[in-house]
Amino acid sequence: MGYHAMAINQNTLTIDGKDVYFEQGQTIMDAALAAKIYIPHLCHYPGLPPSGNCRLCVVETNGKSVAACITQAQAGLRIHSNTPELNAVRKTITQMLFVEGNHICPACEKSGNCKLQAMGYYLGMHEEHFHHFNPRRALDASHPAIFLDRSRCILCDLCVRASREVDGKNVFAIAGRGADAHLIVNTDSGKLGDSNLDRDDLAANICPVGAIMHKQRGYVSPIGQRIYDQQPINEIALGEHVPESTERDHD
Ligand code: SF4
Repeated sequence: MGYHAMAINQNTLTIDGKDVYFEQGQTIMDAALAAKIYIPHLCHYPGLPPSGNCRLCVVETNGKSVAACITQAQAGLRIHSNTPELNAVRKTITQMLFVEGNHICPACEKSGNCKLQAMGYYLGMHEEHFHHFNPRRALDASHPAIFLDRSRCILCDLCVRASREVDGKNVFAIAGRGADAHLIVNTDSGKLGDSNLDRDDLAANICPVGAIMHKQRGYVSPIGQRIYDQQPINEIALGEHVPESTERDHD
């Protein structure tokens, strides 16, 4: 056996029966995306350290359920992802995210560009199923260019990681536990206007939902021309691998 064949054998797993080659150190998610296989996700973003908190990317291997974004790829793994059972669980998780916040799409400027909404469409979610929490969470409009609507936050942690790892600012954090977990701003006042967040920072552009939004800009894309009007979330995610596009790209 030649060196190349050996290397392939040592770095190959299967996802839904397809052979996937991976680089040492890659996660299952990284290997899947590189092989153009979509594993649903909301809190994963290529290039940022994973947090494993949305749980949409849970796959099954060797009788165990693991989050693909935080599990290292290993040779010989037989991974099941696109199964009716796992997609049903993903739909339930998406429904839970919808009822935990105030995701009233007809009144949200992010509609059509929102990953949570697009995930609902992708998974065939026709209603929320669970009772709505209807949380009352304060809007923070203190920043001149950005506003924060925590009632739409899904605690994906992307803004936290983007601010810390890419912007080098540490503007955001998640405080509290369980149902009390919430996004905070790392300033003495707790106000976004007292932070050094810039409208061009990755943290100001990475939010997958309508929680961190730009002021003085709204409804720029006509219905039919919004991101997920054009393509479903799986095709967009595979096409925009490293880095995923953000709303900034659609100004
Ligand atoms: S504000 Fe947006 S990016 Fe930040 S944690 Fe909430 S949903 Fe995620």
